[in-house]
Amino acid sequence: MSALLEVRDLAFQFAAPKGSHWLNPWRKPASLRAVDGLSFSLAPGKTLGLVGESGCGKSTTARLVLGLLQPSAGTIFFEGQAVPSQRTAQWRSLRRRMQMVYQDPLSALDRRLPVIEQVAEPLLIFAQGNALERRAKAADLMAAVGLTSNLFARYPHELSGGQRQRVVLARALVMQPSLLVCDEPISALDVSIQAQVINLLQDLQQRLGMAFLFISHDLKVIRQISDEVAVMYLGRIVERGAPAEIFQRPAHPYTQALVSAIASPWRSTEAPRVVLQGDPPNPSNIPSGCAFHPRCAHAMPICREQRPDLLALGSGRLAACHLLTQTPALVPVLAPVLA
Ligand code: SF4
Ligand code: MG
Repeated sequence: MSALLEVRDLAFQFAAPKGSHWLNPWRKPASLRAVDGLSFSLAPGKTLGLVGESGCGKSTTARLVLGLLQPSAGTIFFEGQAVPSQRTAQWRSLRRRMQMVYQDPLSALDRRLPVIEQVAEPLLIFAQGNALERRAKAADLMAAVGLTSNLFARYPHELSGGQRQRVVLARALVMQPSLLVCDEPISALDVSIQAQVINLLQDLQQRLGMAFLFISHDLKVIRQISDEVAVMYLGRIVERGAPAEIFQRPAHPYTQALVSAIASPWRSTEAPRVVLQGDPPNPSNIPSGCAFHPRCAHAMPICREQRPDLLALGSGRLAACHLLTQTPALVPVLAPVLA
C-alpha cells in the first residue's frame, strides 16, 4: 500500500535563545537540533505512535509535518505530493486534508465564539456551502463525537475539558482529513475521561478511515492505539516497530528503560528492570556518538565516537544501537529479536 505520509531525512535546527549562552557572550549562539534525520511513513487509515520524553522533538515533528515550521532539510510527501515549504495554494489544499488536535483544547478554541460556529469555521474559511449547510454539517460532526445538541451554542468555558476536546475533534474532522496529527490529545484531560477520548478516536478512525500521527509520552496509550511505534530520543528515531514487539522485546536500551518504568501485565517478565538515569541532555549540547551514551548502562567506547545507524531486525523492526552489531549476546533481551 502506498504511503499517505512519507517523511525523509527531516531535520530542524534553530539558534538557541540568547540567555542560553550568557556565561560567554563571545560564543556564537548554539544551534539546537530539535529534529535530526527523521524518516518514517504512514499508510492510509493507520496509526503511527511517536513516543519519548518531553523535549525529544515529538511536537516539532508534528509542526513540521503540518507545515507550521520550515524544515532545515528533508522532504515530506503527503498523498503522493511533496509538501511545499512555502504557503502556496498547493500547500493550502494539502493542509485541508491534514488536521491537528492539540493538547490543550481551551487554548485551541476562541473563548468569544459559540462552539458550533468554531466547528463550522473551517468550512467558511475554505468557502464551502452556505451558512445553513455549514451549520448542519457542524452539528452532524458534533453529534458524531458525542456532543448533545444542548451544548452546541455554548462557549468553550461552559464545557468540561472532555467536551472541549470533542469540539476540537469535530472542528478537525469537518474538512474530512485523511491525516489527523494528535499531539498529546488526552494529557490535559482528567484520567476518568482519557479512555473515552481514546475510544472515540479509535471508533472515528474505523468509521472515517483517517490515519493518525499520534504523539504521547504515555506508553500505555501508544500501545493501545498504534499500528506502529517510533521511539524518539533527542530528535532521532532510535527504535521502530509493531507495538507488540516494541513493548514485549524492546531492542534499544532507551526503549527498555521506558518500557520497564511501567508496571504492566504485558511487559515481558524476562526483561531486566532498566532504570533511566538523569534527564535528557540539553539539545544545544548533544552528546557525541550515540546521544544516549551518558545515560546508558551498556555504553561501550564505540558509543562515544560513532553514531549507530538504524538497523533492520526483520518484520519492519528497526533499532539504532551498537549492541546489535557488537555484543548482542550480552543483552539477553536482544537474543530473541536477533534469532
Ligand atoms: Fe547504549 Fe551504546 Fe546502544 Fe547507545 S549505542 S544505546 S550507548 S549501547
Ligand atoms: Mg510536546
